[in-house]
Amino acid sequence: MSYIATGIEKMFQSVELERQIRRLHRAVGNAVVDDKHVVFAAGSIQLINALVHALSPDANAASPPARVVATAPYYPIYRTQTKMFDGREYRWGGTTALWVNASRNSTDGFIEFVTSPNNPDAQLYEPVLGGSAPVIVDHAYYWPHFTHIPAPADEDVMMFTMSKPSGHAGSRFGWALIRDENVAKRANDYVQNSIMGASRDTQLRMLGIVKIMLANLHGKEDIFAFGHDVMRTRWRRLNAVVSRSRRISLQRMAPEYCTYFKRIREPSPGYAWVKCEMEEDDDCYEALLKAKIITRSGARFEASSRYTRLSLLKTDDDFEVLMERVTDLVNAENYDE
Ligand code: PMP
Repeated sequence: MSYIATGIEKMFQSVELERQIRRLHRAVGNAVVDDKHVVFAAGSIQLINALVHALSPDANAASPPARVVATAPYYPIYRTQTKMFDGREYRWGGTTALWVNASRNSTDGFIEFVTSPNNPDAQLYEPVLGGSAPVIVDHAYYWPHFTHIPAPADEDVMMFTMSKPSGHAGSRFGWALIRDENVAKRANDYVQNSIMGASRDTQLRMLGIVKIMLANLHGKEDIFAFGHDVMRTRWRRLNAVVSRSRRISLQRMAPEYCTYFKRIREPSPGYAWVKCEMEEDDDCYEALLKAKIITRSGARFEASSRYTRLSLLKTDDDFEVLMERVTDLVNAENYDE
């Protein structure tokens, strides 16, 4: 198997896989692809740095390094990966809250990450800096099993991954949709220089998966209908237990109209953003750990440690164990009325 997949321009990318991914976006209605370039990578994690590089001032330019920012709570790898490469082209600039006022006059030199739906709190978000700051929108969860799809996403730079829609996280495959040709070229050069293109074995496997997803859309084996059903049931069950608690609460989510299902659908987030309400539980992660529930502390997302993220993306068996433990935690609450 050679390095070279097909195309002349992007010779490490399967032309057929790119075509099928475009078809999938059109059929699901979650992204406008016709005026975008597609850049493959080894998971969307690799795209974080590829896109920051592509949007930063050229290494030969005299301009200062770009400041890379995100609004808390945000996916921590934007920070850890940007910091790892901090240097001439760009550096980590912290949360947008530090800059919103300062940047009111000018947003020059910023690159903003937005995750929509967000990891950890599953809300749909928009950029906050505005102005001329380029935005990288991470749409890892913008698929109909995790969120309603109000309209096809049409930002200049978007990230997608196969890790979430089909669950093939270990195959390591992500792609960017990029409007500007030069930005796409720089992102593509980054992937070529670091790994000579996404694994061809993985590209072949992804081709099979995307074709099956497409063939079953709106049918009996629709992966999105199946996934939505599973995630909605989990969210409903978790809410039913937590609603009896005064100690912990969850983010509020409302049913919303979805253009894919063409109806109002119940929420089905991948993550619960748990808040510990009692004064003594100021470290929510520790409070849940005592009940043998492993979460990810809010502090990791640069939010308060009063919050912690509970993943609902797990096997049925693990979810049942989780429900038992959350139920025990809530049942143990005892108040003198
Ligand atoms: N972005 C977000 C918001 C994520 O939650 C994840 C995975 N947890 C990723 C990117 C990385 O995904 P990939 O497996 O495609 O590298």
